[in-house]
Amino acid sequence: MTLLQRMEEVERRIVAACERSGRRREDVHVVAVTKYVSLDMTGRVIHAGLKHIGENRWHHAEAKWNEFREEACWHFIGSLQSKKAKDIVGKFDYIHSLDRVSLAEAIEKQAQALDITVRCFIQVNVSGEVSKHGLAPDEVKPFLDKLSQYPHIEPIGLMTMAPYEAEPEETRPVFRSLRQLRNELNETRSIPLQHLSMGMSNDFEVAIEEGASWVRLGSILVGQEGD
Ligand SMILES: *Cc1c(COP(=O)(O)O)cnc(C)c1O
Repeated sequence: MTLLQRMEEVERRIVAACERSGRRREDVHVVAVTKYVSLDMTGRVIHAGLKHIGENRWHHAEAKWNEFREEACWHFIGSLQSKKAKDIVGKFDYIHSLDRVSLAEAIEKQAQALDITVRCFIQVNVSGEVSKHGLAPDEVKPFLDKLSQYPHIEPIGLMTMAPYEAEPEETRPVFRSLRQLRNELNETRSIPLQHLSMGMSNDFEVAIEEGASWVRLGSILVGQEGD
């Protein structure tokens, strides 16, 4: 399939998932994950109209960011070492993987120096898999309370990764739990957490049905080089 065919197919499936769940299409945003593809392909993706680009390592993203920085909005979706925060803050518009105080401190320090506010998702390990990053669900509320000490960090929502399932329907409880956690947290927040970053190539339709406002799509949308 060509890029445009993949874009059409993904769009059709997003629209259908919205219809099934009574959601509006404009409430679901797409991050095109370019971590598997070259600089050239990333340019084609952006010029085809996908303006939100996701990368998970700065050393993979650097050349792409330098080339296309003005033409896209940049999302950092990978786990981030605190000492690498200074590479990311000021370049990426969103960080999807905030999951500990030491990282929040590092982001805050750099954001303060640059006099900017960084939009962050709190990464939650809903499934409890040891291989996954993120806070346990019951750690999120105390963590958010702590974040109020960091004025240059704007928590905008929660992010999770579901375990890979051959049958995507089996990821539904993970996405549902993240939405329920977000709703519970919002009962006591003055500024609500608006967003849920959840759903990847294998499970984005289920995630949308469960309330995803950002899906992060790599292989199904951007492809992998060599396709
Ligand atoms: C790679 C990656 C994605 C996209 O993966 P696909 O399954 O190819 O869509 C989404 N989110 C995160 C955090 C990733 O690392």
